[in-house]
Amino acid sequence: MASIPYGRQTVEAEDEAAVLAVLRSDFLTTGPMVERFETGFAAFVGASCAVAVSSGTAALHLAMLSLDLTPGDEVIVPPLTFVATANAVLYAGGTPVFADIDPDTLLIDPAAAAAQIGPRTRAIVGVDYAGQPCDWAALKALAVRHDLVLIADACHAPGGADRGRPVGTLADLSTFSFHPVKHLTTGEGGLIVTDDPDRAARLKRLRNHGIDKDHRRRAQAADHRYDVVELGFNYRLTDLQCALGLAQLGRLPAWLARRRTLAARYERTFQNHPSVRPLARRGEAEHAWHLFVVRCTGPLQGRRDALFAALRDRGIGTAVHYPPVHLTRLYRERLGTGPGLCPVAEAAYEEILSLPIFPGLGEADQDRVTQAVDEIARLS
Ligand SMILES: *Cc1c(COP(=O)(O)O)cnc(C)c1O
Repeated sequence: MASIPYGRQTVEAEDEAAVLAVLRSDFLTTGPMVERFETGFAAFVGASCAVAVSSGTAALHLAMLSLDLTPGDEVIVPPLTFVATANAVLYAGGTPVFADIDPDTLLIDPAAAAAQIGPRTRAIVGVDYAGQPCDWAALKALAVRHDLVLIADACHAPGGADRGRPVGTLADLSTFSFHPVKHLTTGEGGLIVTDDPDRAARLKRLRNHGIDKDHRRRAQAADHRYDVVELGFNYRLTDLQCALGLAQLGRLPAWLARRRTLAARYERTFQNHPSVRPLARRGEAEHAWHLFVVRCTGPLQGRRDALFAALRDRGIGTAVHYPPVHLTRLYRERLGTGPGLCPVAEAAYEEILSLPIFPGLGEADQDRVTQAVDEIARLS
């Protein structure tokens, strides 16, 4: 039997045709597809400005750079996230400060974030873990009260919403990733959305070495001169990749619907299940279901790694999202973090497992997953 991965991209004939057309055109990197993809993605999330970059990590890095942090400035982040969320703060010369998560949703706890705000706090990052939007209204209130920038690491949640407002419009800056396991792919890729055109212009400059005009603008102005006004990077996304992203974007609504159908099937199967329990949902939020995370309980309590291994033996791929960032060696050594700092995240980490969910997952394959979980639980 073929093995089932925990996540997988969908690439179809129209994607291939879109990329091939660019390959045969004049522009392989910065060309017309970049702006078309940016405009399309901004429209999808309801934001006014978008800046496409080479990865989700680059998006977070530039978002942090745009804060102009000085040494000692702090940015509040949750511990249960991909390490790039916190690394971006370090790249930009700031100090990540960890605020623990809610024990039921595993989203950053606004009260824990409030407790970490101090004189050097500059920003709060919310991560829409698994695709479920954070309590953005509470985070926004904190940001306004303390004059902080609010950043959404929305890499899991394009298409999600909080209280009817789409992810991408809930923070000052929202970052996305187009890695193949995410909702849509450009191979590697990322993007930042904001409603502030000045911030967007700065981010575009930072993705291109800090140069004041890109080559197309120079060509249009028939002027070879340019200046470098700050230290930037080459974080450009290519036209080839943007063509792929734009082709994928058209099918994103259908893919989201498919993820929601699969999640609803898992939730039906696992509600009141003796061994695995889905994460709690926020009633006000529209989930985008990047991941379907369950917690081991009952006979599987403390046996998450056994479940992982037994599923793997049955050809079913799962993953653990994520080792808490503050427990990694880098953070222990750099910041002196360690066990006990975020007890809720530390306890959750021992219990969580992400089951397969992606648009191409068939219902028969999903049933294979749930039957395998049942069987493993019975044998435990
Ligand atoms: C995927 C991801 C990133 C990083 O994105 P890349 O495109 O892989 O660089 C950052 N944060 C979260 C929460 C992610 O899931």
